[in-house]
Amino acid sequence: MKTWIADARNFAYLTWKQVDALPRETTLLVLPTAAMEQHGHHLPLATDTLINNLLLGKALDLVPAALPVYALPPVCYGKSNEHIGFPGTLSVSAQTFLAVVRDIGASIAAAGFKKLVLFNTHGGNTSLVDVMARDLRAELGLRTFSLFGSAGAEFEGLSAQERAFGFHAGEVETAYLLHATPELVHTGEYTANYIARVDEPEVLKPEGGSANFSWLAADIAPSGVLGDPRPASAANGERWAQAAAARIAQALLAMYNFVPRHGA
Ligand SMILES: [Zn+2]
Repeated sequence: MKTWIADARNFAYLTWKQVDALPRETTLLVLPTAAMEQHGHHLPLATDTLINNLLLGKALDLVPAALPVYALPPVCYGKSNEHIGFPGTLSVSAQTFLAVVRDIGASIAAAGFKKLVLFNTHGGNTSLVDVMARDLRAELGLRTFSLFGSAGAEFEGLSAQERAFGFHAGEVETAYLLHATPELVHTGEYTANYIARVDEPEVLKPEGGSANFSWLAADIAPSGVLGDPRPASAANGERWAQAAAARIAQALLAMYNFVPRHGA
């Protein structure tokens, strides 16, 4: 797999003696969680994993070199059962995903490290990452953090419709890959589908509302796309990735410096 993570930030490139020399209390370890799943006719299965690596690599380039912040090897398989029925989707169950992240957390805690970030770029993992961040804190005493997608970066120039319902293989993901791996984007094969419209509000939302319906991509999008990739550009992908990296770097620094508030 391609990587944008500098060798010096890659935990997997260290020897155990080098790991043993890291400061246990302050070293910040980042575990990427992503997916291998269909992304329409035009993007590769690894899209969420590539985007995770791209954004994290760019963010780590912005973190002062002297700080011990490392990217762990990613959990590339995620809970992707919303994309079942499309050849190439490789999904693990919620139980498997939780068990893998728990076991990695336990290994980190056993080595004496204290700070772990779960950096997730696949929507199907989001609620599981929330669960694990709390469980690893409670059960192993790790100081855990969660970080999602583009870390709240503004996507300047993105339409309200795409911002609300460009869930999957839409403009943002396509722009990121047009910037990072243009050879993997099949630009002649764009399709567009929307799960809902901002100008036609419904009582039940596909997600994030107070009353939601559970969706499968196959229910609404025969091509597997939920969004509209057609306006995507490499220039926007580069700008958005840089903006996201700045937000992620800012969050990582805050995590590195984090001290919980204690009441009187
Ligand atoms: Zn995706």
